Amino acid sequence: MAFKLPDLPYAFDALEPNIDARTMEIHHGKHHAGYTSKLNAAIEGTDLEGKKIEDILANVSKHSTAVRNNGGGYYNHCLFWEIMSPEGGEPSTQMNIRKAIDRDFGSYENFKDEFAKAAATRFGSGWAWLCVDGNDKLFITSTPNQDNPLMDVADKQGTPILGLDVWEHAYYLNYQNRRPDYIEAFFNVINWHEVTKRYNDANPGASSF
Ligand code: MN
Repeated sequence: MAFKLPDLPYAFDALEPNIDARTMEIHHGKHHAGYTSKLNAAIEGTDLEGKKIEDILANVSKHSTAVRNNGGGYYNHCLFWEIMSPEGGEPSTQMNIRKAIDRDFGSYENFKDEFAKAAATRFGSGWAWLCVDGNDKLFITSTPNQDNPLMDVADKQGTPILGLDVWEHAYYLNYQNRRPDYIEAFFNVINWHEVTKRYNDANPGASSF
C-alpha cells in the first residue's frame, strides 16, 4: 500500500500570525505532497513496499538516495503538522514532557535556548529535533536535508518527539531571511499534548513522574 499525504489537523490559516496560511498551503500541498509521491515512486516494485516508514528509515543506509530524501521528507512533515497547534505555548508543569525537560535541561528556558540554537545554527536546509533516547533521556540535535534521528546514518540516533523544519520553504514568504524570528514564533504553536504523548510512547513505562 502506498504512503498517503495526511490531511492537516487544522486549517491552513490556523497557525497565523506565527505561520501564514499561504506558506502552510504550499508546504503541505506542494512540498509534502512531492516527497510523498516521490517516495512511492522510489519504492514501487521493491521489497520496501508495504513496510512501515520507521522501519525503512532505520535501515536507510541500505537504500537509494531517493528513499533517504523522500522517506525522510514524508516522515518529517507528518510529524511536523502533528506537533503544532493553534493552542500552543509553554507546556504545563503537570505534563510528563515538562517534567522531563526540567530534569534533563534544568528549565524550560534552557531547553528553549538550546533548541533555538540548534535550529538557528543548522547551516543550509535541515531540521532541529527534540528526541528521547533508549534510557528515557531527552536530547537536542539537528540533521541536514530531510535526514532525521531515526536514520542509521544520523550522528545522534533516537526517537524524535518534536521537530522544526528550517528549510527556507518553511518560512521565507513571511520571514524572508529572518530564521530566528520564525524559530521564536514556532514556540507559540507547539502542541505539547502531542509531544508528551510521543514522549510517553517512546519508552513505555520508563518515566516515573
Ligand atoms: Mn518542509
